Amino acid sequence: MVITIDGPSGVGKSTVTRAVAAEYGFDFLDTGAMYRAATVAALEAGVPLDDSQAVADVVLKSDIRYVDGAILLDGRDVSDAVRADEVTGAVSAVSAIPEVRHRLVGFQREWVVKRNGNAVVEGRDIGTVVFPDAEAKIFLTARPEVRSARRAGDAEAANLSTHAIETKLRERDFRDSTRAISPLHAAEDAVVIDTSDLSLAEVVSRVLEVVAASRC
Ligand code: C5P
Repeated sequence: MVITIDGPSGVGKSTVTRAVAAEYGFDFLDTGAMYRAATVAALEAGVPLDDSQAVADVVLKSDIRYVDGAILLDGRDVSDAVRADEVTGAVSAVSAIPEVRHRLVGFQREWVVKRNGNAVVEGRDIGTVVFPDAEAKIFLTARPEVRSARRAGDAEAANLSTHAIETKLRERDFRDSTRAISPLHAAEDAVVIDTSDLSLAEVVSRVLEVVAASRC
């Protein structure tokens, strides 16, 4: 079965995804890491990010793979590089380009097929666009100030003030939610869980309840 976990930044998707995958013995796919790797490719090529065609050309020539929790760009492990502040600031522009999305959505579907359709996949459009027929769909939310506080603990937020983290997070969510193609929103049949006042264990347990219910 495919379990989709979508939601905005800093909502705890990655941690919850890993815990749910471990529970079922499934592999997990962090699709955000793929868009980040595409952004690293564009930045390294030095193409202007507002030139959609040039960015798309670079991404279409790049080999982007997600292997055992690591993200590879042309065979190079860029798992740390994709977390750089410069990448976080640029990724929304790259992920809004239709050719880029088309390419990466293709990789994401192939990745799940190779696992016989058993996987936990996290992102922004997984339940709406990538796997609209997934058996279990979760959409995680949390109040903005809670998400900023969680992001403050991440390596990519090092050296940033709380105010700067919150501003950047709101800007990125605004761009991701208002883009023309595959904007961030909950699928109609997703179960929405507000994680603001829940511990990680509580969120995981609610997600597992949703998955168990969907299997009945
Ligand atoms: O999840 P993460 O914060 O690493 O995602 C980075 C960016 O990748 C998001 O802000 C969004 O622009 C893009 N993304 C997307 N669709 C996905 C996953 C991520 O557009 N399925």
